[in-house]
Amino acid sequence: MFPNYMGEEVHILGAGLSGLAAATILARSGREVHVHEVREDSGARFDGDFQGIENWTSEQDFFEELEIWGLDSREFKSDSFDIVDLIHPDDVITNPKTDGVAFRVVERGTAEHTIDQGFKRMALSSGVKIHYGVKRSPEECLIVAAGPKESSAVAFGEIFETSHRNMVAFQLNDKLAPGAYSYMIIIDGVGLICTCLWRKQRKSGRYLNETIAWYEGKYDLGRKPIKRVGGKGDFGLPTKYVHEGRYYVGEAGGLQDFMWGFGMRYAITSGVLAAKAVIGECDYEKEVRSRLVPLVKASAINRFMMNRIGDRGFKMVANQWMRDQRRKGDGLAFMKWLYQPGFLRKALWPIVKIGMLRKRVLSDGRVVHRMPFRKALGRDEWEQGDRAQEIAKEWKEAQRSGANLSFSESEA
Ligand SMILES: Cc1cc2nc3c(=O)[nH]c(=O)nc-3n(C[C@H](O)[C@H](O)[C@H](O)COP(=O)(O)OP(=O)(O)OC[C@H]3O[C@@H](n4cnc5c(N)ncnc54)[C@H](O)[C@@H]3O)c2cc1C
Repeated sequence: MFPNYMGEEVHILGAGLSGLAAATILARSGREVHVHEVREDSGARFDGDFQGIENWTSEQDFFEELEIWGLDSREFKSDSFDIVDLIHPDDVITNPKTDGVAFRVVERGTAEHTIDQGFKRMALSSGVKIHYGVKRSPEECLIVAAGPKESSAVAFGEIFETSHRNMVAFQLNDKLAPGAYSYMIIIDGVGLICTCLWRKQRKSGRYLNETIAWYEGKYDLGRKPIKRVGGKGDFGLPTKYVHEGRYYVGEAGGLQDFMWGFGMRYAITSGVLAAKAVIGECDYEKEVRSRLVPLVKASAINRFMMNRIGDRGFKMVANQWMRDQRRKGDGLAFMKWLYQPGFLRKALWPIVKIGMLRKRVLSDGRVVHRMPFRKALGRDEWEQGDRAQEIAKEWKEAQRSGANLSFSESEA
């Protein structure tokens, strides 16, 4: 019924989560699979930063989904959370919580316990051949899993040693994280404070310094900086997910969460779906459009609204979240609601498309409606506080002693 590439070698561009998920499933079905990766290892795009795998875009627990696909979540370290410190723009802290798993924290990078290395191990043990340090073009591959190309938003973070207990805090704050949010994740004595910039800034370091100063003032961290990390997100909706016979998965296919940037689940899911399509078990275009595109569109509509509100709007969002928690006794219900298409969101879609996205023809011929990196606003100009200036100096000092910076402003 569907095209089946039995007997042919399958070439995949990119050994990130989407490419490795696809490769593993294909190799297990008997195909000869080659993955081409420009970097020296899987996860090398990241450098030990923590990321959250959300559990709110489907009724099914994501790790149960992995199990159904034959992907083993025990291959990498993860920590489950049912509660978060929600920091309102006026510094009030409340706690949305749920009875099950709200999200899991995993580490990205090249260390053995990272999710990237876990997926690499699954691919290798299934017989996949991964070629590192090799740059290929999309035209040479059946599955394009090459990650983000351009920047619609960036995140900058600092990893540090801390004696604080494990926790996750999520802060809605338009000054510290223009148009977005900051977060702090602490796992087993290592912390990450990260700020996301959804409006492009000069001297982005000051946002991170001020954010660190904020968290230090609220939590007893005993922070010792280790390194600084970061990366970009590329948000866009292509008109097709299969183009000239090639399957576009993960962020290369625009499968990203416009609202918060939680792209890992979309990456893995789309990789699995593309593999199933290559085996002949489904129609990738149809599956992506029914399972993932409605979520991506809902997140884009939410992002459009987030772009229009400042701290006053963020406060309303935080209050609404807590009202929902009190009414339903489940903090996850609000996050699930955010991703429901609903009548109002559907009605807003044409306005969002015109108001927020720009049509682009990419070098491989695909047409994408991209979200450009928004310009800074007047309110983004402010002087760093005293503690933030000290933190900036401390970081310069740490760099002189060899502390690493994995992502700089010029890469955004
Ligand atoms: C700072 C930061 C924080 C984030 N936090 C979260 C979070 O908390 N939760 C979440 O769910 N998501 C988060 N994300 C998003 C998430 O990391 C991505 O959406 C996800 O990793 C995308 O996976 P992918 O397989 O599509 O792409 P990638 O992981 O980028 O993999 C693509 C691979 O292709 C390779 N490649 C590119 N071009 C070529 C080429 N020409 N030839 C060969 N190889 C090539 C790249 O080197 C890369 O290894 C975050 C992203 C950043 C940057």
